[in-house]
Amino acid sequence: MTKDNSYYKVVIVGGGPAGIATSLTLSSIGISNCIIEATIEPTKKCGEAIPPNAKPILKQLGIQHLIEHPRHIKYYGNKVCWGSENLEQKEFIRGIHGYGYLLDRLYFEKQLRKQVKKNGTAFYEGYKLNTVSRSKSAIEAVISNTQNEITINGSYIVDGTGRKASVCRKLGIYKTAIDSQFAITFSVKTLSIIANEIMVETTENGWWYVAPEGNDQYTLMFFTTKDLIPKKEELEMFLEKELLHLKHISKILNPMTCNFEKIRIMPAGTSCLDIPYGDRWIAVGDAAYAYDPVSSYGITSALASGFYAGKALASYFLGKEDAMLVYRYILENAFQSYMEKLTKYYSTETKWKESTYWKYRFFDLYDKTI
Ligand SMILES: Cc1cc2nc3c(=O)[nH]c(=O)nc-3n(C[C@H](O)[C@H](O)[C@H](O)COP(=O)(O)OP(=O)(O)OC[C@H]3O[C@@H](n4cnc5c(N)ncnc54)[C@H](O)[C@@H]3O)c2cc1C
Repeated sequence: MTKDNSYYKVVIVGGGPAGIATSLTLSSIGISNCIIEATIEPTKKCGEAIPPNAKPILKQLGIQHLIEHPRHIKYYGNKVCWGSENLEQKEFIRGIHGYGYLLDRLYFEKQLRKQVKKNGTAFYEGYKLNTVSRSKSAIEAVISNTQNEITINGSYIVDGTGRKASVCRKLGIYKTAIDSQFAITFSVKTLSIIANEIMVETTENGWWYVAPEGNDQYTLMFFTTKDLIPKKEELEMFLEKELLHLKHISKILNPMTCNFEKIRIMPAGTSCLDIPYGDRWIAVGDAAYAYDPVSSYGITSALASGFYAGKALASYFLGKEDAMLVYRYILENAFQSYMEKLTKYYSTETKWKESTYWKYRFFDLYDKTI
């Protein structure tokens, strides 16, 4: 192990959309920062739908041009079967921001890293945070990969580590899980022409989400509750059975071409911190508030929270103590409004009042908002 010592005003842990948006904002104001990211290269993450109202924040961050790349597809709405038997077309085009984007997510993550490196920002790729400690006026983070251990000093640490909120955990701060929704994801090859749209359909045990991935396959996600997910060896049979309940999505899928070898299971519910900042730390993106994917809020809100966190830190360094309170106010308000919309939306699906998923889902969420 070799030792190194470096200093940055702000140490950002996590090189996803939230961490990168924080870095871009800080660098634009001239505040030194670095990013510590566990993966050497970006890996494929779930989540590709960017709604039209994401455009202003992309513009603010100076990265709107990234999504104009042909690898990201413009899309104009969703087809949704939720709360009735019919598949309804929900168009964006009437809104002021027009179309949204279906991202090539892996490529987007590569673009984001490139953008940060262009600023000359130190990017510790392949390094994990081991420990973090705080004194009255500073933080110290020890990070390592297989060869090196580096001690980094700074004034503030940013938790941009996603749903796990690893920095907060190391500081003894834990998120509250509002519900226990999980996603099971896999892909399906197709020979037919793929439409640039998302399809959503509810079933007794949860809801399905289908999005195009490249020219010849779809990404499929089944959202259900943790209790209903069977053991690994029974998963394929479980999914095959669930697919049979689909009325609309089944028309574009051939279950024979499902790639069950690449099944991934991950948490996909709502979770939040009580307060998104504290002594010498601030949380951004999913680390602060993780959203239900039905909302398509995740990436946009990760970028926005990174932007506002960067601004709050800049004000704080100028001696404006209230800056963090303003950050909290913005995030809490957005989250409250999301919870109200989410609860309302889930309550519109009344076909399976006695089902484990729908019964507890609605009441779980409802309890947290009243
Ligand atoms: C199934 C599913 C579907 C989704 N669909 C959508 C969608 O359609 N649209 C949408 O907007 N959102 C969607 N989302 C949500 C979206 O993907 C997230 O909200 C978004 O990625 C959050 O960005 P982030 O930067 O906060 O976290 P992340 O993107 O998770 O980035 C965190 C980064 O921190 C790194 N890291 C973690 N721990 C450490 C550590 N200890 N040390 C160093 N680095 C670390 C990780 O490697 C990672 O790169 C979906 C989520 C799920 C689960």
